[in-house]
Amino acid sequence: MTQRDRDTNEVLRECEQCNKETVHNVSLRLDSTADESEVLSENTKYAKAPSREVTCTVCGTVTHEGRFQHEE
Ligand SMILES: [Zn+2]
Repeated sequence: MTQRDRDTNEVLRECEQCNKETVHNVSLRLDSTADESEVLSENTKYAKAPSREVTCTVCGTVTHEGRFQHEE
């Protein structure tokens, strides 16, 4: 029973602000997340890896996830 038809994925996540599981919107970002000063030539490919922007729909807290550390 999907009520919305959006591109964003909604997932249940533990929110530190709400201190409970809440619905989060997950959107993919492709821009570099690493600070330029920290990007060594060897790390550039990792810096370009997509990151996920996870937004709590309850309190609006945005969390950026780097390289898919919590993949399934
Ligand atoms: Zn929250």
